[in-house]
Amino acid sequence: MQRPYNFSAGPAAIPEEVLQMAAAEMLNWHGSGMSVMEMSHRGKEFISIAEKAEADFRKLLAVPDHFHILFMQGGGLAENAIVPLNLSRGGAVDFVVTGSWSQKSVKEAGKFCDAQTVASDEAQGFTHIPAAAGWKLRDSAQYVHICSNETINGVEFQELPDLATLGSKAPLVIDFSSHVASRPVEWSRVGLAFGGAQKNLGPAGLTLVVVRDDLLDHAMAACPSAFNYRLVADNQSMYNTPPTWGIYMAGLTFDWILRQREGALTGVAALEARNQAKAELLYRAIDGSQLYENRVAHDCRSRMNVPFFLKDESRNQAFLDGAKERGLLQLKGHKSVGGMRASIYNAMPLAGVQTLVDYMQTFEKQA
Ligand code: PMP
Repeated sequence: MQRPYNFSAGPAAIPEEVLQMAAAEMLNWHGSGMSVMEMSHRGKEFISIAEKAEADFRKLLAVPDHFHILFMQGGGLAENAIVPLNLSRGGAVDFVVTGSWSQKSVKEAGKFCDAQTVASDEAQGFTHIPAAAGWKLRDSAQYVHICSNETINGVEFQELPDLATLGSKAPLVIDFSSHVASRPVEWSRVGLAFGGAQKNLGPAGLTLVVVRDDLLDHAMAACPSAFNYRLVADNQSMYNTPPTWGIYMAGLTFDWILRQREGALTGVAALEARNQAKAELLYRAIDGSQLYENRVAHDCRSRMNVPFFLKDESRNQAFLDGAKERGLLQLKGHKSVGGMRASIYNAMPLAGVQTLVDYMQTFEKQA
């Protein structure tokens, strides 16, 4: 039986091979007599799972040795507080606001530091990325925050800003929750990256933090110990009980990513090529139709989250009902923007996007 294609923004589809592997290992992991959920996080079995997951993540995203990879909890929203608690020293922090998630980040950080929006596309409804040359970066900023893929608005940085060339010495912090592992990361431009796992890496409950070593030691006194990057790093992400199931599932997903092939490309490079092809197919269908529209500027359209609107909104429910009948699930747009949204993360095959496009064209003709 073929499973439906699931376009959820997150928690999102997980590769079927990963789900099957987890099912096969559920009752008795590698002859241990235990499921992963029942293991001590300090036992040799789980430590081997966590070490492999970390090493595989480092490999697949080519994370340099002078960065720590931390497995934490609390999701992206908790990091909106945890990052300023660790990095801001209570001082100035600059935010570039390109959608709902970076908007949330600046608001939360304001509880802990002098958080300022230095560029925003709110006036244009979050359809562009403000040109970097116009960002009003402060010399005093402890870091600069961007959301490198805005999940709700469908706006993605196709290239990370190089703050040094903008005259800033501040480290760049990226919220890469919704496009982590969909494309390579230019680590030389990054001080810290964080993301929840529930889009591209596995189930909800695990947060990945990749942090440059020189940023580990600036936590404010009020920072909770379990969220202090130095303590978490020195304890191999086991200062407190880590989200063991999430780490295991992410590890299986990392394995799956490393096995991906697209012509001569492997791993994240293969996925990036596939993601480009998927996004192109869908945007071409939207742009070529009379019924559908996407309002995001072409140079910053997300490859992962494609919001689109029916010009005749009275047909929205019929569109969703017909999609569901054909095994195309969770296409309803975020409540704050309406319309539709197709999230086409790593686990979505090209065939899923083709099936959606075929359905969209059939539905349009039925008018
Ligand atoms: N940042 C981005 C880019 C997101 O997409 C999300 C979740 N959709 C969050 C932050 C918040 O993550 P969480 O719900 O895991 O806290």
